[in-house]
Amino acid sequence: MIPAPFDYKVPASLEEAVGLLASDPDGTKILAGGHSLIPAMKLRLAQPQLLVDIARIKSLAYIREEGAQILIGATTTHYQLESSELIKLICPLLSLCGASIGDVQVRNKGTIGGSVAHSDPAADWPAAILALDAELVLVGPNGERTVKAANFFVDLFTTDLQPGEILREIRIKKPTERFGHAYQKVPHPASGFAVVGVAVHLLLNDDGSCKSVSIGVTGVGSKAYRAQAVESALAGMNLDDQAIAAAVAHICDGIDPNNDLYASGEYRCHLAQVHASRAIKAAKANVQ
Ligand SMILES: Cc1cc2nc3c(=O)[nH]c(=O)nc-3n(C[C@H](O)[C@H](O)[C@H](O)COP(=O)(O)OP(=O)(O)OC[C@H]3O[C@@H](n4cnc5c(N)ncnc54)[C@H](O)[C@@H]3O)c2cc1C
Repeated sequence: MIPAPFDYKVPASLEEAVGLLASDPDGTKILAGGHSLIPAMKLRLAQPQLLVDIARIKSLAYIREEGAQILIGATTTHYQLESSELIKLICPLLSLCGASIGDVQVRNKGTIGGSVAHSDPAADWPAAILALDAELVLVGPNGERTVKAANFFVDLFTTDLQPGEILREIRIKKPTERFGHAYQKVPHPASGFAVVGVAVHLLLNDDGSCKSVSIGVTGVGSKAYRAQAVESALAGMNLDDQAIAAAVAHICDGIDPNNDLYASGEYRCHLAQVHASRAIKAAKANVQ
């Protein structure tokens, strides 16, 4: 439970952090909340020679509106998102998702950027940012690039982040039409991580039928994913019990579900169906 020796640096700016990372991308790790990285180091699953602490760069933690977007700095904590009045008002899915994470200590320390960059298959944020079709801004020695959330999560603990890159910002299009949001989760009783988590962003037509629905699922597969078969089955439909039940039956289509001591793959898919159905109904009920 004692990490291998490492050096520790606190850059004053993101540019300095990029420079430190660039000098040895393989031996260096970005440190944000440390809630995943430090346990991994204590177990010696990760043995970086240098930690670059970006949690102390104040300009990297923010939530703000800019034009049609909400911009979220990478080191914004789960609690800052959960408790933001702006977020509650314009994008409640983020408040719901943030509030569901771990306990208050975890939410005060853990960051949205760290969670997304880590791509733990049971993390909550990936489901929400997939459902909201977010864009991720990555910065590295060659400049900045933007990646869609749908292309960012590659596999178990693997993202599109390239060696030397840092996740700087998450951008979400402000929901404007008649939208409803919901996040339904079955938390693991020990850690609070999602055994299954389903995030729903629903748009309704004037006649109450489904204009479109985006569904992000976490906990079920090796990475979070969009339940596209469910989304297309519901587009244009009246969201009655029968239509929802028929659609959510497809929530594990194309997914090889995780199996562990706590939940078999079959049980996870069952939970995903039940909680997707609840989340769609809850989103419909809170359309604004
Ligand atoms: C007891 C406990 C309970 C928890 N419960 C939950 C839960 O219910 N749901 C949930 O989703 N999570 C849960 N977590 C995880 C936690 O909330 C953090 O989100 C998660 O640990 C990662 O965020 P972090 O800021 O701590 O990142 P760190 O641990 O600092 O970093 C994680 C990884 O991401 C990299 N990284 C960090 N920031 C960046 C960046 N900006 N750019 C590039 N790479 C970066 C690091 O190098 C490292 O590889 C729990 C953690 C603990 C300890």
